[in-house]
Amino acid sequence: MKIGKTLGLISTAAGLLGGAMSSYAATRLVGGAGVSGAAIAIGGALGAAVSALATLTVGVFIDKRLNTLKRALLDPETASALNPSGAPTILRQLVAAIAESHAALSRETEQALSRLREMEIRRRIAESQREQIETILNGLRDAVLVTDPFKELIMANEPAARLFGFELEACVHKPIGDALNDEALSRLIEQAHDSATPSDRRHVEYLMPGQSTTPDSPGRPAAHYDITIASLPGQTSGSVGGLVTILRDVTREKEISQMKTDFVSQVSHELRTPLSSINAYVEMLVDGEAKDEASRNEFYQIIKNEADRLGRLIDNMLNISRIEAGIVKVERSEVDFVKIVRDAVEVMQPQAMLKNITLIAKTGPMVYTAQADRDMILQVVLNLVSNAVKYTPENGRVTVSVENDDATRSVLVSVADTGLGIPPDDVEKVFEKFYRIDNYKRVAKGTGLGLNLARHIVETVHKGQVGVSSKVGMGSRFWFTIPFEHEGRAAA
Ligand code: ADP
Repeated sequence: MKIGKTLGLISTAAGLLGGAMSSYAATRLVGGAGVSGAAIAIGGALGAAVSALATLTVGVFIDKRLNTLKRALLDPETASALNPSGAPTILRQLVAAIAESHAALSRETEQALSRLREMEIRRRIAESQREQIETILNGLRDAVLVTDPFKELIMANEPAARLFGFELEACVHKPIGDALNDEALSRLIEQAHDSATPSDRRHVEYLMPGQSTTPDSPGRPAAHYDITIASLPGQTSGSVGGLVTILRDVTREKEISQMKTDFVSQVSHELRTPLSSINAYVEMLVDGEAKDEASRNEFYQIIKNEADRLGRLIDNMLNISRIEAGIVKVERSEVDFVKIVRDAVEVMQPQAMLKNITLIAKTGPMVYTAQADRDMILQVVLNLVSNAVKYTPENGRVTVSVENDDATRSVLVSVADTGLGIPPDDVEKVFEKFYRIDNYKRVAKGTGLGLNLARHIVETVHKGQVGVSSKVGMGSRFWFTIPFEHEGRAAA
């Protein structure tokens, strides 16, 4: 642009120069003659012709030099080598001025280019730092939102985009309230902005309401969040450059902590019941309330039963927590399930006989084996058979059978009874810790832990399945499967 402008000026200057020279030549001719009017006229005409010729000659000459100058200026290599001393006298000053202005222009261009290069390097560094930060943020499980002092979202990670269902790119520079679709949380962040100090860091517990599924969004369940809102440093010292909000989902931790509290209160309750009973009978014995031998024996028997129940409770609780904590010692071997079923039936036969219950093992001549911990599997079969006997009225029938389930490549054990059955609402709950059907509590004593332990042994330790189908008044069929090969061995 500047060079073009300079060339325009040069052309104008050349035009003026040409005109001046022709009038100078004419004046000289006219002034020098001093003759008659005709002569003057001829002389004038001649002078004008000479003047025109001179103007033309000088004009062509200047034009040529200017064209050379123009070409030289347009080529950066020759432009830098412009030498005023080589130019005709008439153009020397002009070329000198152009050369100087060109040199200044070149210097300025060079400085601008170097500034541009520096800015480009800075831009690339900033870009790569931003990419690094984004990679780090996306690697986190917590949702992260970064807002500027105008409360606009300037950065967020993928967990945040998933949580709030927004497109990362589309949300940048949107007001936080528009981006989040969560009024309470947006207000929380906005208020934090209003009162933020440079070293601010606050923790807030937040229950995010659930959202039902719509055709556009998959919805989400209500969840507990531990939110940290911290100030980011601003450009000047003491100023706040924005806020970073980190949302950590603590729903599971809350549930576990609630479960622990419930478990402790349930355990204390369950332990207290047999303990109080033992205490009461011991006190009666001490006070001499059992007058004869028969009463004393009856009290001793009750105390023994309660102590046994206490022992079972503690054993079951320890076994369950060991499995849950993953510290249980599993001793796997090729287990003969027919033998286990027969052993369990033999152990339970006396109790079945007390109620005149027919307890049979339907095993057949085949051998059914799987990789399992023998003692644990025996414990599962004993728990199921013991329940079947407990919750089956007198003269009922309990059948234990073993077969192969080819579909799941497992051994399938079933314990079917003709007992009370389980109401549909309770079917899902009987495997929960300490769950006991209210109406059956008078039917038999129990801990409410037998089925939960069975489920842990089958599903957690052996990766099998456990289930029940039942009809009230008709009986129940509890079953479990154990894969032929345990995972580690199958993979080897
Ligand atoms: P419990 O020691 O009370 O038997 P379990 O965990 O073994 O504890 O069983 C939980 C509850 O499931 C029992 O209290 C009972 O209410 C119900 N239940 C278990 N087995 C049967 C069954 N065969 N028939 C009917 N109800 C059963």
